[in-house]
Amino acid sequence: MKIPPLVDSNSVLSPDESRRYSRHTVIPQIAQEGQIRLKNAKVVCVGAGGLGSPILMYLAAAGVGELGIVEFDTVDESNLARQVIHGQSDIGRSKIESAKAKIVEINPLIKVNIHEVRLDTSNAMEIFSDYDLIIDGSDNFATRYLINDACVLLNKPYIWGSVLRFDGQASVVWAKYGPCYRCLYPEPLIEALNCAQAGVLGVLCASIGSIQATEAIKLITGIGQSLIGSLMVYDALSMSYELVKISKDPECVICADKPSQLGLLADYEAFCSTVRPDAITVIELKSKLDKGEDFYLVDVREPNEFEIVRIPGGVLVPLAGFIDGSALAALPRDKEIILYCRSGVRSATALAIVKEAGFNQSSHVEGGVLAWAKQVDPTCTVY
Ligand SMILES: [Zn+2]
Repeated sequence: MKIPPLVDSNSVLSPDESRRYSRHTVIPQIAQEGQIRLKNAKVVCVGAGGLGSPILMYLAAAGVGELGIVEFDTVDESNLARQVIHGQSDIGRSKIESAKAKIVEINPLIKVNIHEVRLDTSNAMEIFSDYDLIIDGSDNFATRYLINDACVLLNKPYIWGSVLRFDGQASVVWAKYGPCYRCLYPEPLIEALNCAQAGVLGVLCASIGSIQATEAIKLITGIGQSLIGSLMVYDALSMSYELVKISKDPECVICADKPSQLGLLADYEAFCSTVRPDAITVIELKSKLDKGEDFYLVDVREPNEFEIVRIPGGVLVPLAGFIDGSALAALPRDKEIILYCRSGVRSATALAIVKEAGFNQSSHVEGGVLAWAKQVDPTCTVY
């Protein structure tokens, strides 16, 4: 989607700035004008961790004039394999101080604002109101819903991204132009797996964080097509980027014409812990198959993965069909639906969508094909 520049171009570049940003200003679509828009931009990033690292470093290098950081944590050794804004000598230091020092080293010409707090209902609106653009570099659903709701209420754009193991997603939300996060995920997904438990390939943070930083620069300068209304789904193992169209939910509680939720929720952690989509174990699935129970088993992976290994009886319906809604019409209404994927992450996403569409008799397989190969059929190929 093409939208006007977020930030005005009323200023000039100093000689220092002109030299520093010369590789930008020679690009016709950016030029002096676009670089001035970047200089005038105020952007805040929530989190200085895996996603926040590349986002903050590249936006600082790109000359975003005012960069805010929201972070309350300290640097731990286990962060260093992906949170490249911090280094060995920063272990034990506050992340916000460490990130600020790195940013100043990258680009002393910009201003850095620190917000050393845990983002919550009491402070999100106040912090965000000072910025043109918000970037979500957080790693949990409670913060993601909070950022969404605050940005929709403030009518400000924000850019979200998420990473887990080898999979990543990113999108841009600006409620006046397109759908919000709640239009896509009305209810919190199961958070059985977070990065600490499931792991994340460190470099995946660079892939997704740089998409977020790129979208920020495009929004600020008004160039290219924004990810508003699209979900970018990245799979590092198959090296595929897929763009899935997403649309506004006319019944969305926060961004509909007549929203039912008019302010922030009191407690987003409580909101995210109340919903527990149904999950079954691979042992339970094996038992159901052995008994010949009548259910509809759906494999939400990609065709190449389906070729490598599958659970007997599974019907291939890739996740994208759930996200854009096209797969729902073919699902049986009169049968139990069981979804699986490689590890249980994509099937949890599909399950949330299936439940929302009214298929109440549905569940997904915890641990997916990996658990199946480990606990039921060791002859299966794992990948
Ligand atoms: Zn919405």
